[in-house]
Amino acid sequence: QTWDKEAFKAELGGIRCHDDEKYLEARSGDYFWYSPILNEQLKDLRGELVVIPQNREEVILVAAAVARHKVPLTLRGGGTGNYGQCVPLEGGVIMDLTRLADVIEITEGHVRVEAGARISRLDDAARETGQELLMYPSTRQMATIGGFVAGGSGGIGSLRHGMLRDPGNVSYVKVVTVEPEPQIITLEGDDIQKVQHAYGTNGIVIELGLALTPSTDWIHTAALFDGYDAALRFACWAQEEGLDCYLLTAVERRFAAYYTKFRDHFPEDRDAIFAMVAPGEMTRFQAEAERRGGRISFAMTKPEIREAGLQPAYECGWNHTTLQALKVDKGWTYLQVAYPRPFDPDLVTRQMDRYGDAMFWHHEMARMEGEIQIFALPLLRFRSKEETYRVIAELEETDGCTIFDPHVVTIEDGGMKEIDDTQIAFKKQADPYGLMNPGKTRGWTDDMVRNDSTSHQGETA
Ligand code: FAD
Repeated sequence: QTWDKEAFKAELGGIRCHDDEKYLEARSGDYFWYSPILNEQLKDLRGELVVIPQNREEVILVAAAVARHKVPLTLRGGGTGNYGQCVPLEGGVIMDLTRLADVIEITEGHVRVEAGARISRLDDAARETGQELLMYPSTRQMATIGGFVAGGSGGIGSLRHGMLRDPGNVSYVKVVTVEPEPQIITLEGDDIQKVQHAYGTNGIVIELGLALTPSTDWIHTAALFDGYDAALRFACWAQEEGLDCYLLTAVERRFAAYYTKFRDHFPEDRDAIFAMVAPGEMTRFQAEAERRGGRISFAMTKPEIREAGLQPAYECGWNHTTLQALKVDKGWTYLQVAYPRPFDPDLVTRQMDRYGDAMFWHHEMARMEGEIQIFALPLLRFRSKEETYRVIAELEETDGCTIFDPHVVTIEDGGMKEIDDTQIAFKKQADPYGLMNPGKTRGWTDDMVRNDSTSHQGETA
C-alpha cells in the first residue's frame, strides 16, 4: 500500500519528524540481532517516517493522521526489545514516545508517569521520596516504562514482587486509540492485561500508574562457589528462606571470560551468584555462602560499584548476561526457559551434561502468580534454525520446560501471552483499521481472514 507522505507531514503542523535514511535506520530496529533467525528476517526493514510528539496532544494528532491516511504505525520507546517488537514490518510511521516523559505524581506506594519516561529516571525520582520501583529490566538505563509494560515481562525485582502481569503491580493504563477522532481509554485491574505485553498493537499507552515500595540501599554482591550446582542450590536456599533480595542470579563459570570488568571478582574457576541483598541480610547471606564452601567476592553499594569500575549486579543477570557474551563472541544466540514448579536443580545438572559446550547456563530466581518460578536464558551456540528448534523441542518434551521462543516476531509464538478474544475485541476498539504494528499478532490476522471469508460467503449467498 502506498500513502501520501508529504500530505501526511503537512497535516502534522510542525510536529517534529524525520525521514532521512540514517534516522530511519536508527529508529527501525531493536535488539532482534540476538537471534540470527530474526536478524536475517528483519535487518533490512525500515519505517518511512519517524514522528516525535512532545506531549499527549501531539500524540493524539499523529494518531488521527495515521487513521486518516491508513498508514502502518509502529510505537517505540527505548528500542531495547529482543524480538523485533519495534521493527516496522510493513513500513509506515514510527512514533518515538521518549519525549512523553513526565513523572506526573509520586504518592505513598504509587507513581503516575507518562509512558516515554526512562526507567532509570523514574526509579531515581521514586528514590528521592524514599521509594523504588517493584521491578525493572536490566536495560533500566535505556528502556522506557511504557516499552517495559508493552513489551517486557519482569526482571530485576521479580524475585521479590512477581512479574509485571501479577495483580497490583500496574494500577492503571491510559491508552489513545488510532481513529480519525482518537479516544482516551483508561484500563484498570485485570483489563490492563489487554495491553500488557501486547507489543503496541492495540493502543498507544500515554500514561500509567505503578505500585512503589519503600526503597532499600541494596548491596551489590557476588558469592563464588566451586560448582554450579552448589551456587544454584545456595540461590534456591536464599529464595526459599525469604532472604530479602532484589536480584539473585546464578551464572556458571564459563561466562567469566565475558564479564571482562570483573576479573578476579569472577574468576574462571568459580561459579557465581550475583545478587542485590538488603544491608540487614548480608551477614546471613555471607554466613550461609561460607557454610556451603563459598566466599563473598565483593559487596558494595551502587556508588561504590561504579567507583570500582564494576557494573551493578543488575547488569550481570537476565538478558544482560547474553549481551556480555555477544560483545565477545557473536556465535551465540539464546533461549528463554521457564522451569516446571517445584524447581529441581538436578534437572539443570542433566541439561549441562547433555548439551556440553553447545549451551552455557545462568538462572534467574523470580516469582510468578505468588509462587517461586525459576527462569534460564541460556546461551545456545547457533548452528541452524533446525538445530535451534530441535533443542527447544527437547527442552520442552524431555525436561518439561516451557520455552518463550525469542526467535519469532508474533506475540503468540513468543509465548508469555495467548491472544484471546477479549484482546482481539479490544484491538477492534483501540485500532479498528488494524494499523498498529501489523504482523505482530497472529490472533488479529487470523480473525481478519476469518471475517473476510465470512463476508465473502455472505456476498455469494
Ligand atoms: P521498546 O523496545 O521501545 O518497545 C517494546 C514494545 O513496546 C514494542 O512493541 C513497542 O511497539 C511497544 N511500545 C513502546 N512504547 C509503547 C507505548 N507507549 N504504548 C504502546 N506500546 C508501546 N525485558 C524484560 O522484560 N526483562 C528483562 O530483564 C530484560 N532484560 C533485557 C536485557 C537486555 C540486554 C536487552 C537488550 C533487553 C532486555 N529486555 C528485558 C527487553 C527490553 O529491554 C525490555 O522489555 C524493555 O523494558 C523494553 O522497553 P523499551 O522502552 O526499550 O521498549
